[in-house]
Amino acid sequence: MEEIKKYFIKTYGCQMNVHESEKLAGMLVSLGYTECSNEKDADVIVFNTCCIRDGAEQKVFGNVGALKKLKKSKPNLIVAICGCMTQQKDRVEIFKEKFKFVNIIFGTHNLNQFKNYLIEYNKTHKNLYEVWDNEKEIDENVEMYRTSKLNAWVNIMYGCNNFCSYCIVPYVRGRERSRNMQDIVEEVKGLIKEGYKVITLLGQNVNSYGNDINDKNVTFANLLKEISMLDGDFRLKFMTSHPKDLTDEVIDVIANSPKISKAIHLPVQSGSSKILKSMNRKYTREHYLELVKKIKAKIPDVFLTTDIIVGFPGETDEDFNETISLVKEVNYGGVFGFMYSKRTGTVAETMPDQIPDDIKHKRVNELLNLSKSMIKEQNKLLVGKTLEVLIEEQKDDGTFVGVTDSGKNVVINENVNVATYYNAKVDAIVGNKLIAKIVK
Ligand code: SF4
Repeated sequence: MEEIKKYFIKTYGCQMNVHESEKLAGMLVSLGYTECSNEKDADVIVFNTCCIRDGAEQKVFGNVGALKKLKKSKPNLIVAICGCMTQQKDRVEIFKEKFKFVNIIFGTHNLNQFKNYLIEYNKTHKNLYEVWDNEKEIDENVEMYRTSKLNAWVNIMYGCNNFCSYCIVPYVRGRERSRNMQDIVEEVKGLIKEGYKVITLLGQNVNSYGNDINDKNVTFANLLKEISMLDGDFRLKFMTSHPKDLTDEVIDVIANSPKISKAIHLPVQSGSSKILKSMNRKYTREHYLELVKKIKAKIPDVFLTTDIIVGFPGETDEDFNETISLVKEVNYGGVFGFMYSKRTGTVAETMPDQIPDDIKHKRVNELLNLSKSMIKEQNKLLVGKTLEVLIEEQKDDGTFVGVTDSGKNVVINENVNVATYYNAKVDAIVGNKLIAKIVK
């Protein structure tokens, strides 16, 4: 009997990468590989890398280096590296120089070629390094192996045109390229038919979906409208949304459709207009706050979350205090706070007044503590409220766990069906979990 070959994929970074790993898995499964849960059992190990912060890159170098021993004891093991890191030539050189045991290197633009590279390597056993500078046409035929049975991610566009001064993404992911609207709608229809309950549309800036297509009807608002009108018991989410491009029309579509999630992630990055200007975000503190006001007026049950970078070059205590005051004013349901990390080739890399690490640490801790205490206060107000809950699984102790539209975990101690939406009344809060009872 032929031995079944196994694969292990290690994914770093954002949801886009998580979804791209589903494409890598799809190609591996189509070649007869099955997934395994640790590196030691694998015949193929793929590192799908991230370069958004220095820490992420150092982690990849460390983890790849740690494979040297395994590769020695298992010479037939195939090690492949892809993702945002490999779109940078100097990083590829480091992999080639320092980790000669790496067999396949490819980039984000030629991810769909992985299957061919693996077939080729299995024939020749010659290392294969190929990174494209640009993507050819969007490949609609990549196999996919989805990791969740309830949550599905759907790319609606690739790349970014914004060039925020700290960000490496436009350099490694290229310019914006939108998928054809009908292809997206067909993919979503198929997912609903398969029983997926949460569909998340993905793009670096979903609000500019369609800007590169010469048809005024191809807009993010129309895409949301069209998908939200499909039959089926599903909810529609999206990420990420650039505040400068969030239109009234999109806000109206969200407000008017019960199928579109009211949890909106709207990265502000800083509360200081001076810092926003040097970040090249193209909006001011006042514009952002006006936008939030508009959203809250039209979508009263909106749940807003955000990303914030602290310690951007030139950020003074006053600038940081403006961020803190903005966070309080918006009253976010969650803040993802990061310390600024210098990225090679970006405009911010050479800016004067880089902030020392100890100040960055202090600021990020203050921000995250504030967010934690805000979440605690908001959770208290949920007691007695009825929320929609999607039941995800049954635990060994017989209880069921579910999740709200805003991503809060809910424990239900009653008999319910997995993969079903229920209304549930919150009885108590334990830690970060809501304890609730089904409303009949
Ligand atoms: S919008 Fe700005 S932060 Fe987001 S991917 Fe594009 S350049 Fe990076």
